[in-house]
Amino acid sequence: MNVLIAGAGPTGLTLAIELARRGIAVRVIDKATEFFNGSRGDGLQPRTLEVFEDLEVLDEVLRQSRTMPPIKVHVGGRFVDERRMAEPVEPTPDVPYPNGAMLSQSRTEQLLRDKLSQYGVSVELRTAITGFTQTADVVTAELSTGETLTADYLVGADGGKSFVRKHLGIAFEGTTDDSIRMLLGDVAADGLDHEFGHWFGAADNPMSGIVLTPLSGGDQFQFGAPLDGDDADTSLEGLQELVDKFAGTGTAKLRDLTWSTVWRPNVRLAAKFRVGRVFIAGDAAHVHPPTGGQGLNTGIQDAYNLGWKLADGREEVLATYETERRTNAERVLGISQDLMQRHVDGDESAMERGENTRQLDISYRDRSDTRPLVSGDRAPDAPVTDAEGNKTRLFELFRGPHETLLQFAPTTPSTHPHAVDITSPEAFAIYHAQPGDEILIRPDGYLA
Ligand SMILES: Cc1cc2nc3c(=O)[nH]c(=O)nc-3n(C[C@H](O)[C@H](O)[C@H](O)COP(=O)(O)OP(=O)(O)OC[C@H]3O[C@@H](n4cnc5c(N)ncnc54)[C@H](O)[C@@H]3O)c2cc1C
Repeated sequence: MNVLIAGAGPTGLTLAIELARRGIAVRVIDKATEFFNGSRGDGLQPRTLEVFEDLEVLDEVLRQSRTMPPIKVHVGGRFVDERRMAEPVEPTPDVPYPNGAMLSQSRTEQLLRDKLSQYGVSVELRTAITGFTQTADVVTAELSTGETLTADYLVGADGGKSFVRKHLGIAFEGTTDDSIRMLLGDVAADGLDHEFGHWFGAADNPMSGIVLTPLSGGDQFQFGAPLDGDDADTSLEGLQELVDKFAGTGTAKLRDLTWSTVWRPNVRLAAKFRVGRVFIAGDAAHVHPPTGGQGLNTGIQDAYNLGWKLADGREEVLATYETERRTNAERVLGISQDLMQRHVDGDESAMERGENTRQLDISYRDRSDTRPLVSGDRAPDAPVTDAEGNKTRLFELFRGPHETLLQFAPTTPSTHPHAVDITSPEAFAIYHAQPGDEILIRPDGYLA
């Protein structure tokens, strides 16, 4: 089997790793001439860290990232308070990474590319998909390099302006709010403590102003400022002018601007996530406002959901990608949009990253079933003992492309190649299990 992935952002890269580690031939093409170099989606949610543990990139992500720092709040140039978007939470046996991590999107992508290269796959830059057709058996794609190739499946992970989505004629329903615009950039700021975030609000309207959030691995901050009026100066001088206006001249001297852009909130959802042998995932299928930090994370979850299904190849399995992920995207878009509106309305608590943005509650369950842990729910971590009698965790045993069979105090041995015999009372409690219960865990860590 072979798969063509158009787009090497976080979605395309995650999918490529998922396929390559299953031994599936995969090509990842990207029309960009060089790799993207901005912080954009810099918040990795707890569920994304769990996926990264399975993909064996977590150690490096944790080494390079940082936790969300406290924010020093200034209004009208005067320090008023120090706040956290969310209080750090202690890990528990079922939730090992409750806090998420901050890492520039460009560095997350680099780590994913490094992992992909361990499977012998590298991204083909300067290569756009420019056309494709499909039959019941195969997709034929044309590339900007002049090459024509055939693949069993094509996945459009080619971002919000997705060529693949448009070529399929899939509607991208939703809105772009032209009344809201944000100036974003990565820049160093002499005079500001890099251990903190800094929020400089206007005296008459504290929600307008600028936020500088420290980026890990260097001395840059992610700069963010809502814009009023039509003009936007994305140069270093333009950003400095805003710092002088809201923080006061002499508070911080900006330098080393490596990326800046003007961003408009978009809330859109594709009407379909699949036509025949062609799928769309990530921003190609749904775009979010940045509130709640969901965009990149949702794309990674799409890829994680789709990878093992493409490898499986059975129609009844493939069909669940759209039902599961489109429903989830609809829900996440609602959360991001709600946070955005509260932010616009001046509700400061909208800055908080709440329970429902951590993506730990993603579930593909039948919503009418109210039992505590059922088919479609995330399989929690739990302490267990492995076949050799060593203490370990379920997430260690889930790691890899396989499904896992949990057997709670079994009386007969299983022939399943990845069966785990469970005796730990803690795991019984976490799984609401009785002796003799068997629970099959999908390769993507949800109850089958
Ligand atoms: C300014 C800004 C701020 C953001 N802030 C946040 C945030 O704080 N938190 C968060 O979670 N998310 C944030 N996001 C969203 C996040 O960046 C995206 O959700 C994420 O990049 C989506 O990943 P993706 O892989 O689906 O698409 P992308 O990252 O857009 O990647 C798509 C890739 O496809 C390539 N491509 C396009 N067309 C073709 C073609 N025809 N052929 C081949 N390749 C093609 C592109 O070059 C690109 O590399 C932000 C986005 C922006 C723009």
